[in-house]
Amino acid sequence: MSELLSLQAALNARIPALSGDASGAARRGCPLSDLRDRLRRAGLRPTRQRLSLGWLLFGRGDRHLTAEMLYDEAMRAKVPVSLATVYNTLHQFTEVGLLRQLALDGSKAYFDTNPSEHHHFFLEDEGQVMDMPDCGISVESLPDAPEGMEIAGVEVIVRLRRRAGARRQS
Ligand SMILES: [Zn+2]
Repeated sequence: MSELLSLQAALNARIPALSGDASGAARRGCPLSDLRDRLRRAGLRPTRQRLSLGWLLFGRGDRHLTAEMLYDEAMRAKVPVSLATVYNTLHQFTEVGLLRQLALDGSKAYFDTNPSEHHHFFLEDEGQVMDMPDCGISVESLPDAPEGMEIAGVEVIVRLRRRAGARRQS
């Protein structure tokens, strides 16, 4: 809850002042101004909605979310956005490389706040995504790429299910 309150406080206190940029140095190190710089460097105007959703997305380390999950967080944080805006923002962030969309589940898109290439475990029944440890897999003996093409990257998804009798953590 304190996290949500600090989001509100940060947005209310800082965003109106962002247009006049005289005291930028004083805010160095502030996550919100870091986020604003990050959006600008990626070529996105740091609108209030992008900052609010970016704060929720990137403020808690590496995560994997669907639009619905982020929308729920935004509602709880009292960020006034529609689900359509959440979708659009996630796709914009993905286009500029701030997020990576994961092809895990045909019915809904998962977005990874760590856009670098890495591999995942996917617990299908529960829709839960986990990063694989760095040493988790080595991909060797890939087929040759088709004529005129090269391999741009390899992402492995290892699909999991709970063993019969294993208890859910919750
Ligand atoms: Zn990941």
